Amino acid sequence: MSFFRKSNEEIVLRYASGIQSEIYGEDHFLLEFDSSFFEDEFVLKKTFKPCMPSLLHAYIEHSLVLNTQEVLCECGDVVRDDIADELRLFDIPLRELNTFSDEDSYERYLSAVYCENVPKKLTPDIFEVLFNRRTIMKKFNETIASQIQKLSYARWNEYLTSDGVMLRCSYWPEGLKRALFRREQGHCAICLRDLRNLIANDEAYQIDHIIPIKIGGSNDPTNFQILCSECNKTKGGNGTDTSSFYSPLFK
Ligand SMILES: [Zn+2]
Repeated sequence: MSFFRKSNEEIVLRYASGIQSEIYGEDHFLLEFDSSFFEDEFVLKKTFKPCMPSLLHAYIEHSLVLNTQEVLCECGDVVRDDIADELRLFDIPLRELNTFSDEDSYERYLSAVYCENVPKKLTPDIFEVLFNRRTIMKKFNETIASQIQKLSYARWNEYLTSDGVMLRCSYWPEGLKRALFRREQGHCAICLRDLRNLIANDEAYQIDHIIPIKIGGSNDPTNFQILCSECNKTKGGNGTDTSSFYSPLFK
């Protein structure tokens, strides 16, 4: 695998913007946030450990598939050329419209080819755009938390404590630590204190659940940030503080 993936940046940014709007519940050209996605317990089960691909990867794929099916169903001939153009950008060979007996069959074919190929090509890049903003991750995890709070202890006692919150994960995969350090640029996500010396010596810094376990937070990789010990202590078991501050590239 090459270190730098090729991507069609314009498409990635457009979809990332659409999915961000879904997460914030804003009106835009795509569908509204599909909370029913989180009612699937097998989807939620993914969040019991900090595994990649994350729940956000699953949601992005779900959203791309659902939106394409919906838009083809509602707008048909208005959008099918755009969808075919997008497929060609990814070098996916396509049959022409005149090889089908009717337009509905052609649109079903486009939808199937799109859903089979495009989400897996775009999802890693869309994930990176969204993961880079902690405030988007916080909003996403607030929605996950509202679904976790609905889970029954009797059904999920392998994963939940008796008060219905998720068991705390104490193991952080190296890949997750590396990703968080890169995003926070070695600084505390709340006060921006420079932690690079502490991190280098594996001293006191904290990997924090943005939405705490106690109020429905999960162990999905999207629910973590790096804090200094003081900010972690102040935030406590109920706080959901994060920030949209980042260490500036130009100082
Ligand atoms: Zn701090």
